[in-house]
Amino acid sequence: MGFSLAGIISNDVGIDLGTANTLVYVKGAGIVVNEPSIVALDRDARNLLAVGTEAKEMLGRTPGEIVTVRPMKDGVIADFEVTEEMLRYFIRKVQKKKFLVRPRIVICVPSGVTEVEKRTVRDSAERAGAREVYLIPEPMAAAIGVGLPVEEPVGSMVIDIGGGTSEIAVISLSGIVCQRSEKIGGDEMDETIVQFMRRTHNLLIGERTAEQIKCQIGSAYPLEEELEAPVKGRDLVANIPKTVNVHSEEIREALNEAVGAIVNAVRISLEQTPPELASDILDRGIIMTGGCALLRGLDRRLMEETELPIHIIDDPLTCVAKGAGKVLEDLNGYRKVLF
Ligand code: ADP
Ligand code: MG
Repeated sequence: MGFSLAGIISNDVGIDLGTANTLVYVKGAGIVVNEPSIVALDRDARNLLAVGTEAKEMLGRTPGEIVTVRPMKDGVIADFEVTEEMLRYFIRKVQKKKFLVRPRIVICVPSGVTEVEKRTVRDSAERAGAREVYLIPEPMAAAIGVGLPVEEPVGSMVIDIGGGTSEIAVISLSGIVCQRSEKIGGDEMDETIVQFMRRTHNLLIGERTAEQIKCQIGSAYPLEEELEAPVKGRDLVANIPKTVNVHSEEIREALNEAVGAIVNAVRISLEQTPPELASDILDRGIIMTGGCALLRGLDRRLMEETELPIHIIDDPLTCVAKGAGKVLEDLNGYRKVLF
């Protein structure tokens, strides 16, 4: 393959199909799409009304006839049809040359996906206009994106904590030696915050507000300077809009169960890692990626509980897409890492 006319005139793309965010990397151009994995639909006709950022703005604010769907919720494809529509929308969006030659597409999928799900993603991408489809496990793409030596006989542990899942994988010699996928991530944290606000402050808030609280003052380890933030919602007693001041300590307490589950999953993975690779991880530490790697103090908490060095990379939200991009630029070289 290598140098071919098709390669020059088609826009080959790499896609990070995440439960929270979808990113599209275009060969030669970099990341050109970075939007929430959300679709707004007409309730009855099921027509596509909006995708991505535009659809997220509608979340929790839709009149009866519009529904917003997160087709990848919980780390699996919950709604096949909508996932396909979303993929098609994003692929079309970056195909400015209108399929002069159909693109090759590299898609990152959770390492624990079933054969049926792989088939669906592949079919969807083909129906959306792909000439060839390559699937790559997300933790592998993250490791490549970060620049880890995935081909070498050295163990690297990657923890990718996204919206719907936490994926933990040990990579060596271009393969995933062991992996674990837990259905726990940022969404669950948001839901916990919604429940906490209702229970403790009698305040009803939506998941978008909960996510903002998590990002603003959420933490997994005591902060040097504790924070507070005003939260607006509906008072459940008086039934009117109200503002409540919330402290980082109480949100940390609310998030503790989710954080504990992540810590536990990492512990189990470490126990199941073959000894030679475990000693590599001891030397090199663990790489943490995904949006929830940004939760304050999560690195510190993991470090204390595992006694291993934890590294958060600079760009935890984009490294999977960057990895897909690197694979795209050298499909032959990376053949072994593909599913
Ligand atoms: P996915 O791969 O599942 O699409 P991402 O890696 O894009 O997920 O991460 C999205 C998650 O990261 C969301 O739950 C989001 O709220 C969370 N997130 C993003 N920024 C922060 C932050 N600064 N602090 C805590 N969580 C964050
Ligand atoms: Mg992801």
